[in-house]
Amino acid sequence: MTPLSMKTPPPSTLDQYPPTEALDTIIELKVGQHPNIKSFFVHKDLITFFSGFFRAAICGNFAEAASGVVNLPTEDADTVAAFISLLYFRILPVSSGETSKFWPICTLWILADRWETPIMANALIDHMRDQAVTLWIHPSNLLNLMYENALESPGLRRFATMVVVAVLSNKKLKEMQETFEWSSDVRLGILQELLSHGTDRKLVGREELAMLDLCQYHQHKEGVRCSK
Ligand SMILES: [Zn+2]
Repeated sequence: MTPLSMKTPPPSTLDQYPPTEALDTIIELKVGQHPNIKSFFVHKDLITFFSGFFRAAICGNFAEAASGVVNLPTEDADTVAAFISLLYFRILPVSSGETSKFWPICTLWILADRWETPIMANALIDHMRDQAVTLWIHPSNLLNLMYENALESPGLRRFATMVVVAVLSNKKLKEMQETFEWSSDVRLGILQELLSHGTDRKLVGREELAMLDLCQYHQHKEGVRCSK
């Protein structure tokens, strides 16, 4: 397989797959810290096709390139397992608890963003929208987490802020702000979103949210869009 160009950005749309003829090398991801390290084994050409982070680590001149082992001491094993499930099987995360339906989507998006995997970050935004429409819930309780962690790309926090403002009245927004103790960054993001609507803001319904073009929140290089 021709080595991936470091200048070519990872794919961002679901119609792209790596070439199948070169899935011959396995690398090891060692996640967590001793004595609780968990190893995951993944195809090098698959993970470097989709992730800019692994492309740099495995295809560059770092020690990981020679050893085929990537140490990830600060990552969470469950989130990495969800990343690999989505990478191989395109299985989207589902919440097993009642704390928040959006929690697994949010934590995986933050990892996908950090590992420069736009195809995954984009699919997770679509999944969050679908969950919001189906269950008619909003991610008010996770805004602090998103604003603190989604640093590389603003897509998720912009999308989540838009949803919260779209479905909540001013009175409800104030209640959520107090309940979840939104940070000053979150409050500023909410204010900017409110201002973009002008003085006659109307709440958005399920159908309108379902029809929204999400490419405005996706990570794409110029000129690329998701197919309808
Ligand atoms: Zn898109």
